Amino acid sequence: MQGLMMDVPLLITDLIRFAERNHGDTEIVSKTVEGGLHRYTYREAHARARRLAKVLHALGVKLGDRVGTLAWNGYRHYELYYAISGIGAVINTINPRLFPDQITYISNHAENQVLCFDLSFMPLVEKLAPQLKSVKHYVLLTDRAHMPAQTSIPKLKCYEDLMDQQDDRFEWPSFDERTAAALCYTSGTTGNPKGVLFGHRSTVLHAYGAALPDALNLSALDAVLPVVPMFHANAWSLPYACTMVGAKMVFPGPHLDGKSVYELIEQEKVTLSAGVPTVWLMLLQHLAANKVKFSTLKRTVIGGSACPPAMIRTFQDDYGVTVFHAWGMTEMSPLGTVGSLKTKQAQLPKDQRYAVQAKQGRGIFGVEMKIVDEGGKELPWDGKAFGDLLVKGPWIASGYMKSEGGDPLKDGWFPTGDVATIDAEGYLQITDRSKDVIKSGGEWISSIDLENIAVAHPAIQEAAVIGVKHPKWDERPLVVAVKKAGQEVTRDELLKFYEGKIAKWWMPDDVVFVPELPHTATGKLSKLTLRQQLKDYRLPGA
Ligand code: ADP
Repeated sequence: MQGLMMDVPLLITDLIRFAERNHGDTEIVSKTVEGGLHRYTYREAHARARRLAKVLHALGVKLGDRVGTLAWNGYRHYELYYAISGIGAVINTINPRLFPDQITYISNHAENQVLCFDLSFMPLVEKLAPQLKSVKHYVLLTDRAHMPAQTSIPKLKCYEDLMDQQDDRFEWPSFDERTAAALCYTSGTTGNPKGVLFGHRSTVLHAYGAALPDALNLSALDAVLPVVPMFHANAWSLPYACTMVGAKMVFPGPHLDGKSVYELIEQEKVTLSAGVPTVWLMLLQHLAANKVKFSTLKRTVIGGSACPPAMIRTFQDDYGVTVFHAWGMTEMSPLGTVGSLKTKQAQLPKDQRYAVQAKQGRGIFGVEMKIVDEGGKELPWDGKAFGDLLVKGPWIASGYMKSEGGDPLKDGWFPTGDVATIDAEGYLQITDRSKDVIKSGGEWISSIDLENIAVAHPAIQEAAVIGVKHPKWDERPLVVAVKKAGQEVTRDELLKFYEGKIAKWWMPDDVVFVPELPHTATGKLSKLTLRQQLKDYRLPGA
């Protein structure tokens, strides 16, 4: 119809153009691999991204080509985010913590033409280069002074040298908003990793969703530190959403230990941070051991795996930091739900409020959810019925790169592989990944609930609960726990701690203490590895 609104494509470069124009002086601060602290502004970042676009063109990168990165959170990685997508190519952020064989598989599958990597990954890339079939150019993300004197990497290029050869007079091209912009492989606990392709339109819409007040509540008043890596589901969209609102960004580089993260938060007056529970465990340990507090941090987003209620309590009661428990997955760009309160919940007594916050949160507009039983019948939102969680929306994957694994959709809905309840207020609670559910006598026991109780015990540092074979019940829960340094607790004491907190038949059958638990490349508990490690374990009396 005539007179309708303009049909302007939603492109990622518009975010950084807007940031330069409106927040030109706002800073992006990075701890670097080389050891220093780098600071510049959105204005300079945009100029460098334009310069980088010319570098990429000079290297022969064209619309639709893939460019791989093996890099920490930092300003050069940020420039790559904008320049690669900005010229219509696709940035493939590879998780360097994956097994070398998986990295090779991913780069070959993505057919990366160029591979850009941080100094930390020189030895890794030297080892892998002979197998990276598609890569024509290797670019080390550093300056001339840090270039290695010798290397087996063919024709290794220096990022800053390439940048020096170009100027920043460049106009971003316009193209279809449905063009692919970024590519991230899911860890694929079984089989090969699968590529999730994010588009310009989905990325911009997701950034709007993420910035909403009841989602991450981002604004130009914030200083945001993404601890979550830029190779883990686009650092949960923060490099886009922060740019959209003009928030200051603070990148930790490879320095993710509790002390470094704490010092950076204090020094750069960070107001919001985001990461998986494991990194917060390290930070909280540092705070407790050194008896220090935060002076500016107000909010922290915790997700990627279930945030134990004990962690929410510690952050809020001891440090005055509000926790936003979030749930999502790479296939969802990644945000699905965020645990922000509504008026009704905000007025609840503290314990009940904390119980709401321990759930994974409410859907953001743009994410439709439903839970279904084994026959595919939709279940009620009553907080009790639990079933397979399906999602739908403009930033949710419709399939995988090169149609790997076939069509995942069920009647247009994406099956998350998670099992959940949703209550009448719309709060989602993940009880398990479907493959981690413990099936006892035909009923399901939530491993997440049992883990949350274990870590609420003062002597427990971390815990995983897995189902182990049982002759009568099929499976029974086993707690595998790590004690806090210098703390003692026995098997029986820990089991006693469960009494009164769960239904009797949920009571774990046994506890095994271990010095540490295995984690995946994204810092989550690896139950697959744990089950392998404990394959010879037998329950008492089984
Ligand atoms: P990976 O498989 O590499 O970990 P994702 O980061 O995409 O890939 O993982 C998504 C999965 O992580 C979800 O399907 C869910 O099982 C789990 N998850 C994410 N956030 C939470 C959360 N807050 N609570 C429980 N599980 C979560």
